[in-house]
Amino acid sequence: MKFVSTRGNAPAVGIDAALVAGLAPDGGLYVPESIPALDLATPRATLAETAHACLAPWFAGSRIEATLADLCAHAFAFDAPLRPLTGAGDHLLELFHGPTAAFKDYAARFLAGTLGALRDPHAPATTILVATSGDTGAAVASAFHRRPGFSVVILYPEGRVSPRQAHGLECWGDNVRAFRIEGSFDDCQRLAKHALSDPDLRARVPLGTANSISLGRLLPQAAYYAHAAAHHQAATGRRLGVIVPTGNLGNASAAWLARAMGAPLGDIRLACNANDTLPRYFAGDAYTAQATRATLANAMDVGAPSNFERLRHWHADDDALRQAFAACSVEDPTIRETIRCAPTRHGIVPCPHTATGLHLLEALRHAGDSGDWAVVATAHPAKFDAIVEPLVGHAVAPPPALARCLARPARGDRLAATSAALARALVG
Ligand SMILES: *Cc1c(COP(=O)(O)O)cnc(C)c1O
Repeated sequence: MKFVSTRGNAPAVGIDAALVAGLAPDGGLYVPESIPALDLATPRATLAETAHACLAPWFAGSRIEATLADLCAHAFAFDAPLRPLTGAGDHLLELFHGPTAAFKDYAARFLAGTLGALRDPHAPATTILVATSGDTGAAVASAFHRRPGFSVVILYPEGRVSPRQAHGLECWGDNVRAFRIEGSFDDCQRLAKHALSDPDLRARVPLGTANSISLGRLLPQAAYYAHAAAHHQAATGRRLGVIVPTGNLGNASAAWLARAMGAPLGDIRLACNANDTLPRYFAGDAYTAQATRATLANAMDVGAPSNFERLRHWHADDDALRQAFAACSVEDPTIRETIRCAPTRHGIVPCPHTATGLHLLEALRHAGDSGDWAVVATAHPAKFDAIVEPLVGHAVAPPPALARCLARPARGDRLAATSAALARALVG
């Protein structure tokens, strides 16, 4: 299987080179030359087995083809249960049972496993540089923690992540360092991009990335959609539609990919927060990146969704893409109201991101839709206790893995939002 750039000006490469490079040399995103058709309707016993079935065709001919099953077993070691909610046909696809209680754990662990397996053992250690609005940094830190040949540097915007998210970024130690940047998430991203495109710096410090445009994060995410859809169809005879809380469009692109490969998924709907670049586009406006707005669902605070270019590439034109998805924007007051009512309406406590999806489900039911839907629960509500607990009126206990993380001491350093300060920190 070969991978080409969305911008069409880079040579086709195999999966190993695409994984290590992250971004194509012409600035585009790597996409497969073709999408394999698989038997994904037959349910498999474990999520790891489904992951292996979904990923095997991409890794045909890879140097790590023989270890793929082990990599899947490691990355998909925790379940992604499809839990029925109170209403008929309503479900929650729980993706928060990993070590940092967000769906990004699956892909970060898979990426860390593949980069670890592909690494030349004699090469100097690679520093994975990651700008995060909260969840990515923790998932990447956890996935690379104490992994030989790698260190992690996290950049996060001071004061803009929840206290528990901050703890989850700062509690690792060893080969992981966290920096509170005196600025916004956009500043963090700008600093990371600048460092990664600085050849002098890269000659002194080998740098790598783990952001959501990497194929190593996109491809594994198809697994939980394929797994849930196959089991749902086997049990009910019906296709499962999914409602995906969306920021950079990585998770929703993976759902699209799972369906394109043959998973019996129904419609894919995107729930966004007040950052409404995608809802505007899918409603017919031209695609226009917006400045990022801070919301309660902070991991979705994205004004220029990085995977859009990939989805656009996979469709003949804007009309075709607009027919494949629908998106809605959910403002903070509605997020609050949805969290407040969720225990009685749905029988669960959602995180603010998941709440955007629940609101979209409520809107579909209100409009008379009677299909089977799964709202994707992207993070555990206990990560956002300061928002969620006052709304539902009781404490939300962290799951065991998150509790272990919160019990460790946290340590981060403040850093000015300048490239010079970051270069000093990286070299030093
Ligand atoms: C990252 C994240 C999202 C958005 O996922 P994308 O793949 O960027 O669209 C939604 N919810 C949570 C909790 C996240 O961490």
